[in-house]
Amino acid sequence: MNSALESFASYLREHNLPVTPQRLAIADVVLGSASHLSADDVARELKSRGAAAGLATVYRTIEVLIRSGLVVERDFGEGFKRYEPARDMPHHEHLLCSICGRVTEFRDERLERITTLIAEQHRFSRQGHRLVIYGTCAECRRGLT
Ligand SMILES: [Zn+2]
Ligand SMILES: [Zn+2]
Repeated sequence: MNSALESFASYLREHNLPVTPQRLAIADVVLGSASHLSADDVARELKSRGAAAGLATVYRTIEVLIRSGLVVERDFGEGFKRYEPARDMPHHEHLLCSICGRVTEFRDERLERITTLIAEQHRFSRQGHRLVIYGTCAECRRGLT
């Protein structure tokens, strides 16, 4: 078991929640992913690994993962949520391709500075910000031309 999965197992035990193979399989998919998966993506990946679980179980397990702080929920306004492991990486932003749905991450110090300045102008105490850039990725644009 890798360390993130091990932390999840101890979280379950500490909160008197059963450590089931199904829960561990779901956690393994989400925690081992480098992308931003939807619940449907998780269910599909489980199925391809021969460890099928119902969507309700997937959602319930993801909820526990979020509560444990191991997974972060993202809402890009697509009508469904996406989930990514809470890595030790600093705050980052996302680019979302409206054709293939691919999510790309980026970080730019200038955004940290400008949002601080904007907050100051409004005499606002800044806690954080969130930015999603919508558009089409280079690969999809190649297919369009
Ligand atoms: Zn694309
Ligand atoms: Zn991300």
